[in-house]
Amino acid sequence: MVDFQLDEMQEMLRELAHEFAVDEIRPHAEHWDEESVYPKEVIQMAHEMGLLNLHIPEKYGGPGLGCMEEVLVNEELAWGDPGFATAAYATALACAPIITGATEAQKDIWLRKVAEEGALASYAITEPGAGSDVAAIKTTAVREGDEYVINGSKMWITGAGYADFFFVLAKTNPDAGYKGMSGFIVESNREGLSLGKKETNMGQRCSDTRSISFDNVRIPANQLVGESESGGWMNAMSAFDLSRPNIAAHATGLSRAAYEHALQYSNERQTFGKPLHHHQAIQFMLADMKTDIEASRMLTWKSASEADVGVKNTESAAHAKRFASDAAMKISTDAVQVYGGYGYSEEYPVARLMRAAKVMQIYEGSSQVQRMIIGREITKNL
Ligand SMILES: Cc1cc2nc3c(=O)[nH]c(=O)nc-3n(C[C@H](O)[C@H](O)[C@H](O)COP(=O)(O)OP(=O)(O)OC[C@H]3O[C@@H](n4cnc5c(N)ncnc54)[C@H](O)[C@@H]3O)c2cc1C
Repeated sequence: MVDFQLDEMQEMLRELAHEFAVDEIRPHAEHWDEESVYPKEVIQMAHEMGLLNLHIPEKYGGPGLGCMEEVLVNEELAWGDPGFATAAYATALACAPIITGATEAQKDIWLRKVAEEGALASYAITEPGAGSDVAAIKTTAVREGDEYVINGSKMWITGAGYADFFFVLAKTNPDAGYKGMSGFIVESNREGLSLGKKETNMGQRCSDTRSISFDNVRIPANQLVGESESGGWMNAMSAFDLSRPNIAAHATGLSRAAYEHALQYSNERQTFGKPLHHHQAIQFMLADMKTDIEASRMLTWKSASEADVGVKNTESAAHAKRFASDAAMKISTDAVQVYGGYGYSEEYPVARLMRAAKVMQIYEGSSQVQRMIIGREITKNL
């Protein structure tokens, strides 16, 4: 049987997240974006209310919930404000490769820090010269006795300015391509680690995005994620199977917010003697938005529920992430269209949503990269 109904706990969690978005996120979203304010206190509040890092297992102090619960919450947080959702999700993203690839002892230290102490973390893979092509990263980690020495730089790292530690992908065997990569946990206060200035982004401006430089940064050898070197690439990619459903949920929440604004405005604004939504061209635009929101959510739920039951969800997560982020771009652009000239003004919320949508087609693997993944998955057995 396929059942699209949520259970009582899931409904309650969704309701809690929605109320949090109404009370604590929406009232500040415009200010955060306009002034590029990082919403640290509200992120901390969301953590304390049990709305963040839901996938950290109970034995490490976390809520021990599934990807399905996470996507329900993330849709609501992004409905509140997509920038907040991105900023708040950075830590969960950094925890994903720890959950999928770290040793028990490492999980007990680092996941517990997040779950019990509210530590913040960032996921640092992209470099100035390598984004989609992860195998082209140049950061190196060289073993010296009981330490690793890290050199290189990372780019576009979400939450970097506030992170207590980073998950860093580096090459331990530069000649072995993607097979020579390893993941490391690096505290932000290590000597030799420095941060760039906060980037001035097109949208989601409350989220902190920065470069990181590693200049002979020494870390204990036991901060190599996992038992041995070289599993870093596979682990970082497996982590995406857990995170992409959540980015799809963010996109769905953004789309829903844009659609709701457009629907309401179409009832308030009159042209040619009747409300906008009485014009079929506008009503069809709203209908298409709603269909795409439903489809985004269903793809998101499918990929999340596959992750929870242990079905390999690389393809379904790519469908969800690709479709929902492209839909968010289209829906928010159409919402601006429904508002006409007012939509182009920052006085109204749809312009901010349209700016916020763009990055969803870029980060966590761009829409082109998602198509490459889907293409690879559907042709691999031919
Ligand atoms: C706001 C923001 C936050 C981010 N947060 C993080 C983070 O927390 N951690 C992190 O590690 N990274 C982060 N990123 C980086 C992000 O994941 C990369 O920007 C993304 O993967 C694309 O890489 P790139 O920018 O180097 O573009 P490139 O890889 O140079 O690609 C440029 C364009 O070409 C397309 N393209 C590339 N290769 C192909 C191909 N083979 N076929 C077809 N098209 C192709 C891409 O889709 C893109 O449109 C963030 C980026 C932004 C903007």
